[in-house]
Amino acid sequence: MTACIFCQIIAGEAPARIVYRDDGVIAIHDIMPQAPTHILILPVRHITSLMETQARDTALLGEMCSRAVSIARELGLPGYRLVINTGAQGGQTVGHVHLHLLGGRQMTWPPG
Ligand code: AMP
Ligand code: ZN
Repeated sequence: MTACIFCQIIAGEAPARIVYRDDGVIAIHDIMPQAPTHILILPVRHITSLMETQARDTALLGEMCSRAVSIARELGLPGYRLVINTGAQGGQTVGHVHLHLLGGRQMTWPPG
């Protein structure tokens, strides 16, 4: 079994509340939500972080972003925040690139 928790979820070896799935991306509810809506959009293929993406991943990154927009639209969010924490200093804790969709409350700036 892979050590990556998100790959385990994708393989059906770990539980998750799946919001959306196709061949390229999957969206799940975050297990420790930081906002009333907190959904993670991730590629089905394991990529450790944004720093490991290559030119061939441009379409995939676009799919992740547009999927987040579609989900936000379906949920009727009047505003939201998309975040990709990248690397340890960027606050990334799970080594499988993912886009956070946060909404349902007023966001503040600067982030922590
Ligand atoms: P990051 O810190 O940007 O790497 O985000 C990782 C996110 O994954 C955090 O918000 C965690 O709460 C979330 N997370 C960790 N394990 C799981 C899991 N098994 N299912 C859903 N979300 C998870
Ligand atoms: Zn993975």
